[in-house]
Amino acid sequence: MSEEAGAVIIGGGVNGLGTAYYLGKKGYDDVIVLEKSYIGSGASGRSGGGIRQQWTSKENVKLAKRTRKRFEKLDEELDTDIEFYQGGYLVLAFTEEETEQFPKNVEMQNSLGLDTKYISPEEAKEIVPQLDISDVKGATFNGTDGTMYPFPVVNGYARAVREMGIDVRDHTEVLDIERDGDEITAVKTDDGVIETDTVVNAAGGWSSNVAEMLDVELPNKPYRHEIMVTEPYERFLEPMVISFHHGIYFSQSAHGNVVGGIGNPDEEPGLNQRSSLWFMKKFSDTLLDFIPAFGGVNMIRQWAGFYDTTPDGQPIIGSVPEVERFYQLNGFSGHGFMVSAAVDEVTAELVSGESPSFDIERLNVKRFEEMDIEEEGGVVG
Ligand SMILES: Cc1cc2nc3c(=O)[nH]c(=O)nc-3n(C[C@H](O)[C@H](O)[C@H](O)COP(=O)(O)OP(=O)(O)OC[C@H]3O[C@@H](n4cnc5c(N)ncnc54)[C@H](O)[C@@H]3O)c2cc1C
Repeated sequence: MSEEAGAVIIGGGVNGLGTAYYLGKKGYDDVIVLEKSYIGSGASGRSGGGIRQQWTSKENVKLAKRTRKRFEKLDEELDTDIEFYQGGYLVLAFTEEETEQFPKNVEMQNSLGLDTKYISPEEAKEIVPQLDISDVKGATFNGTDGTMYPFPVVNGYARAVREMGIDVRDHTEVLDIERDGDEITAVKTDDGVIETDTVVNAAGGWSSNVAEMLDVELPNKPYRHEIMVTEPYERFLEPMVISFHHGIYFSQSAHGNVVGGIGNPDEEPGLNQRSSLWFMKKFSDTLLDFIPAFGGVNMIRQWAGFYDTTPDGQPIIGSVPEVERFYQLNGFSGHGFMVSAAVDEVTAELVSGESPSFDIERLNVKRFEEMDIEEEGGVVG
């Protein structure tokens, strides 16, 4: 069986579906989104739900600010409650290096219109009274950051794009992409062939594998990141609390559950999504150092997903030199929701032949060969 499509989007996560949504808003309905498992089965359904604008690179700050503004209206747009709660992000400094760097981050973020503040440990304790501040040297806080619930976002997008006439196919795996010279001709799935000249690679942790189908090499590597959730409690924690130094983040969801994770610096790259005992112990011990009162809290579930990691911690957006109309939308590391709406809208503009409304030159894959890359220092977990 063979059929035709104006564009095929590989990946039914927030970015594949977000791009379909912006294409749908432009009136395109000959688009097919392919997802090898269920909607949100990749990193999107495994995320911590954080929406943070406090980044160290200008690109990420701008993308995140634009996305936060979109998320403030997403309930209305998708006609669903995405549980976006703007309790802020409290970023704790524990080292001399951080106390030197954080005020510079604040200055840069302020220059881009964000109201981030550098605050003392005592002011941090006013925001989270249960926090042990004995080792905290300072902090930054932005009150418009927050958290959302990933599932209503991805399912809301899927429903909205289907209503726009776009075909979203779950449990349909892309096996190969065919090309004639530098032009794409077809996408081969486990359910038939789709003739198309345009493909968006929004395959998250699998994006390098998808690129290989066209002999395109991406520098992305998937790394397992683990996360857990506790029983629900009455709200006591307003912001998401994070520490780059410890690699930990935790917040309280709209339902009252504490959700948090911690990175393992010794994790090897690979497609491993198993949970580990190491995580459960490391996360619990570190969390108790931050908030001793968490001693009586019960963890109910842990899981793992991938950070699709690039060498500079910033996403890869746009065209590749080797193949025409093969657009990358990947490499989101631990912040694919936070920048999603901005990059999805730009990708829809590229697919539809419009000039991008946001300068994405520094996010093109060519940067690794041709530019001095600016490493993002704000990845946590
Ligand atoms: C533990 C954890 C916590 C996180 N916390 C946050 C957070 O607080 N805030 C934040 O912004 N981000 C967070 N992230 C990162 C965020 O979840 C991701 O960056 C984001 O979800 C990426 O979305 P995506 O749509 O690009 O990719 P994904 O959601 O990974 O979707 C890609 C999809 O492509 C599909 N696919 C792959 N290959 C094929 C194929 N051959 N054929 C068909 N389909 C295919 C996969 O099944 C997958 O569903 C976290 C990630 C993890 C793992």
